Amino acid sequence: MKKLKILFLSSEVYPFAKTGGLADVSGSLPKALKELGHEIRVIMPKYKMINERKYVLREVIRLKDITIDFGGKKITFNVKSAFIPDSKIQTYFIDYKKYFYRDGLYTDPDTKKDYPDNALRFSFFSRSVLETLKLLFWQPHIIHCNDWQTGLVPFYLNTIFKDDSFFKKSYTVLTIHNLSYQGIFDNSILDKIEVSDSLFYPGSPVEYFGKINFLKAGICFADYITTVSENYAKEIQNSSEYGCGLEGVLREKSDKLTGILNGVDYSVWNPETDKYIPENYNYSTLKKKYKNKLFLLKKVGFEYNDNVPLIGVISRLTDQKGFDILVDIIDEIFKMDVQMVILGTGEKKYHKMLSEMQKRFSERMKVFLKFDEKLAHLIEAGCDIFLMPSKFEPSGLNQLYSLKYGTVPVVRKTGGLADSVVDFNSSMDGKGNGFIFEKYSSRELLEAIKRAVECYRDSKTWKKIIKNGMKEDFSWLSVAKKYSKLYEKILKK
Ligand code: ADP
Repeated sequence: MKKLKILFLSSEVYPFAKTGGLADVSGSLPKALKELGHEIRVIMPKYKMINERKYVLREVIRLKDITIDFGGKKITFNVKSAFIPDSKIQTYFIDYKKYFYRDGLYTDPDTKKDYPDNALRFSFFSRSVLETLKLLFWQPHIIHCNDWQTGLVPFYLNTIFKDDSFFKKSYTVLTIHNLSYQGIFDNSILDKIEVSDSLFYPGSPVEYFGKINFLKAGICFADYITTVSENYAKEIQNSSEYGCGLEGVLREKSDKLTGILNGVDYSVWNPETDKYIPENYNYSTLKKKYKNKLFLLKKVGFEYNDNVPLIGVISRLTDQKGFDILVDIIDEIFKMDVQMVILGTGEKKYHKMLSEMQKRFSERMKVFLKFDEKLAHLIEAGCDIFLMPSKFEPSGLNQLYSLKYGTVPVVRKTGGLADSVVDFNSSMDGKGNGFIFEKYSSRELLEAIKRAVECYRDSKTWKKIIKNGMKEDFSWLSVAKKYSKLYEKILKK
């Protein structure tokens, strides 16, 4: 295998800054690629929330007070650097206070609305990254972009930097983590983000129903596109529901599009070593899992009863995640003898909906409306059943964590959920690691929950399902090998 220079670009990287799965991927895949022998560096924005002292961010002499002309303005910024904790992955932070020193990453936590200048923020990020590479004299073979926030990188490489010999040997990969976020903005900002008028016309790579679309630009100009499960790669080409209007563009690129399911960083998500949970355990010490349940129940003030399954949810609160089909059957769910803990933050309407649900079932349902990494680990460890009734789910990580934690997932058959959860069917030699329903409907979700709850009461069968799940291996190393092969294929072409 050839040792490659890879640049990994992401708007969030765990543990520096995280809103969802993208951060987990960005904090793990580079480590696995390095383990395979590649030289990899990461670049992300320096947000206010990133603790410079904790992560030992340092100034880079060569990268101080960089001034670029961008969108008719002179912008001066710095680049800092640090290692991803417990690794030697060099991470650079684009430090421009005007754009990145805010309380949220993409949305204002108070209003829950997107920042109005997101187009300027992330076009600048994309552009500044390319300048940084030149100042570093570091020429990557692969520039691995992620999501719309970096979608303009392939575009700029094919426009502003088209004749720049520095990037002659660099190829771009764009990974789509969620097609429902495309970075769509009003076309009045074209000149501010350095998209020339001549490249903006109906059907052009950056145009989308009269607006500008960062992700579409990335898809059209990237040398290769990946998404985060094989199933999602098919779904987004085959229907407008999943393709979110870009299905045609994706179909045109289908020979350069593939799906690779995300992995799990077992140094972070492993019940045997998890530092956030009160009691570590594995399959052979499964009894200890229940100490975590006890701890969690105590925290929320509910009684422990062996026969009552505790159902957990950890999720961004958006339309994608299936709360609308959950709310319709909440009475039915609590007709069963179950308890529930939900951790999530996001859209206001779901904050309201969940608060109301909690009021009605306050004896058995606890809702935490916040982002809390530690609590997420405790919920994975302490619950019996994990719910993910997503309308769509490009990869999904929480079902993978749940499998490892012996917390049986109940999921909808979509995207990466369908690629990782196998429905338990006692008539099929007891195969399966969870419960699946197909149609996006309350009724089917309820049926799946009922099947899970029934099975829970049969402890021998339940243990079998848990064992099937805990034995699965979704480690990043095998995933990184797939990316590595793909990079080589791109370079050979
Ligand atoms: P998505 O990327 O769509 O948010 P994933 O399942 O791929 O969904 O990844 C979600 C990640 O974000 C998981 O690591 C999950 O634990 C975490 N997460 C989501 N919401 C919260 C929250 N409120 N508090 C803590 N962690 C959260």
